[in-house]
Amino acid sequence: MTHDSAQHGVTLVRGAALLGGGAADLWIRDGVFVEPADRADLTVDAAGLVALPGLVDLHTHLREPGYEQSETVLTGTRAAASGGYTAVFAMANTLPVQDTAGVVEQVAALGRSAGYATVRPIGAVTVGLKGERLAEIGAMASSRARVRVFSDDGMCVADPLLMRRALEYVTTFDGVVAQHAQDPRLTVGAQMNEGERSARLGLAGWPAVAEESIIARDVLLAEHVGARLHVCHVSTAGSVDVVRWAKSRGIQVTAEVTPHHLLLTEALAESYDPRYKVNPPLRTQEDVEALRRGLADGTIDIVATDHAPHPAEAKECAWGEAANGMVGLESALAVVQQAMVATGLLDWADVARVMSSRPAEIGRLDGYADPLAVGAPAHLTLHDPAAGRTFATTDLHGRSANSPYLGIELPGRVVHVWHAGRRTVADAALLAPEEVAP
Ligand SMILES: [Zn+2]
Repeated sequence: MTHDSAQHGVTLVRGAALLGGGAADLWIRDGVFVEPADRADLTVDAAGLVALPGLVDLHTHLREPGYEQSETVLTGTRAAASGGYTAVFAMANTLPVQDTAGVVEQVAALGRSAGYATVRPIGAVTVGLKGERLAEIGAMASSRARVRVFSDDGMCVADPLLMRRALEYVTTFDGVVAQHAQDPRLTVGAQMNEGERSARLGLAGWPAVAEESIIARDVLLAEHVGARLHVCHVSTAGSVDVVRWAKSRGIQVTAEVTPHHLLLTEALAESYDPRYKVNPPLRTQEDVEALRRGLADGTIDIVATDHAPHPAEAKECAWGEAANGMVGLESALAVVQQAMVATGLLDWADVARVMSSRPAEIGRLDGYADPLAVGAPAHLTLHDPAAGRTFATTDLHGRSANSPYLGIELPGRVVHVWHAGRRTVADAALLAPEEVAP
């Protein structure tokens, strides 16, 4: 396919099931969905495909600047596009840390020049993620990167006074603090979920209460100062209960769950395979069930990947030495299909909400409020739910391969993606960087 035919003119997407409902045509011109035209320069047969709005990930580690051996903005957004994403929020634990206007503007610019997805940088809450004093939150918010989400993710903002000040600060520009809820004192040396299994395996435990106690503290702080709080990667049944209670009180709290916490359990740690080592750790089947119910009933607002690339040497070692984290952008939609759609807990319109419009709303990202509507930006993912595959390294398009799903059968497949009317994926293949760059 030539550059011109892929990226210019009028595109007709014929017969897609809109949000999993009735089949209809979609027309794209000049980056937006438009009314039907007389003729199309490109017609894409979408019979049997579900049309979803481009997915939005509120929790991605792109690793650039500083850790380009793990991922770059280009490779990470290629991974995102292949998974059906058109926007990602890039976590702040880079080197240098995203704690100044200069660094967040650099990351946003790298995203624009790659073109595969909109990159919205997340700003650090504290200087250098050290948890000692507040970063230049206002300067990042008013920078060209227009940062609205602040997080020390990877680290918990453990000091309650710093957390209070950060929450107060973000209210001045409608921002949100995204907390990695992990009491550091309760998790010193932690290697896996604390319980009977960790005791038997001789691995230091990461107790559920270390997450739940921070969430309980922070929802009360958010209530006290009237701020928005977002809870990253909720992983326990008790956390779902705390968030449910906070929402019932009218506290402005939102929460995310990762695909891996919706599908996998701590039993995988029995293998001592570091691909299953992640923070927060995989929990119990009872936790998985509670997280699924919480996502289905709206207590948990969104699915976010926590895509955490690591080079082979950080994972091909003993469990105790291995880095925490899993890549997830390429597999997220398939895992959500398996855990939530195939089980009848969500339909495709719900998936569009929890993986696109709601994360965009939490992150104050424009262009996703009215999915697939005429006049809206043409962020479009066509997904084939009937396709299946044994997930393989050829399905990974980032720089790292630390996926927990390699060799596992996963349902569904992303077939076509448009980011602001420009194709990034066609016929289940990523377009080349020179075809995608603006
Ligand atoms: Zn985290």
